[in-house]
Amino acid sequence: MNCPKDDGMLTNRELGGAAVAWCAQCGGMFLEPGELNKVAGETAGDLEFSTVDLDTFEHEDDYGPITCPANSAHSMKKVEFNIQSNIILDYCEKCGGFWLDGKELARIREEVTEYNEAEREGVEPWTIRLSRFFWGLPFPH
Ligand SMILES: [Zn+2]
Ligand SMILES: [Zn+2]
Repeated sequence: MNCPKDDGMLTNRELGGAAVAWCAQCGGMFLEPGELNKVAGETAGDLEFSTVDLDTFEHEDDYGPITCPANSAHSMKKVEFNIQSNIILDYCEKCGGFWLDGKELARIREEVTEYNEAEREGVEPWTIRLSRFFWGLPFPH
């Protein structure tokens, strides 16, 4: 597998209990289904589902469209991590994989740390925020 951005060879790297396909040149990585949940860090809920479900796939980012490293016939879509994070990832609808920049992983982990802190403090638990988004439940006062 090659990097969709610089064509560097992707090598397997252990990260958060997942073996991700990682580019040594740019620090980007390809995540197969289930791996984003692992590398993002421990939290309640399914981050992959909440990232992709209901997304419009209409987002701008620094580098534009890329092809899926798993299959060059797949073009990846831009998707916003967990709805309101402003972190724009690449997602392959065909194989369910994500492409992350090295710097995007750091931002995702910060975001997940914030959800967990909010949940511990009882301030706007992120699971409730998602419930409201998905099912139109009223937000608690
Ligand atoms: Zn690369
Ligand atoms: Zn694909």
